[in-house]
Amino acid sequence: MSHDPNCIFCKIATGQIPGRKAYEDDELLAFHDIHPWAPVHLLIIPKVHVAMLSDVQPEHQSWLGKMLLLAPRLMKEQGVSNGFRTVINTGADGGQEVYHLHMHVYGGPRPWLKG
Ligand code: 5GP
Ligand code: ZN
Repeated sequence: MSHDPNCIFCKIATGQIPGRKAYEDDELLAFHDIHPWAPVHLLIIPKVHVAMLSDVQPEHQSWLGKMLLLAPRLMKEQGVSNGFRTVINTGADGGQEVYHLHMHVYGGPRPWLKG
């Protein structure tokens, strides 16, 4: 599996730096955002290093689909029962800060910090 040694999310995926994990399998990892915007704020990432959504290839289709399937499952596990938001920021104008593809999933009672 391809990792970028300078990428913070690759380091979380490989266990080099800690992350509060909510889910893990061969292809995906979900962990709690370090600066949550909402009572529950998870990041779902592929373990393989792909910088952003505009870099995905047809061979990524399987784990891309799994990311969306995982979001409602994890929100339910986290006790979120009244809806949630999913966001993927892509590139500079998309407001992306960490260049390892990730999906934000956030929920819980409002008001939220952002959004
Ligand atoms: P972006 O703006 O790239 O979509 O979001 C990056 C997110 O990653 C931000 O919400 C930020 O709080 C989170 N983040 C950045 N560094 C770390 C870290 O080391 N650990 C965790 N758990 N989250 C991080
Ligand atoms: Zn990475």
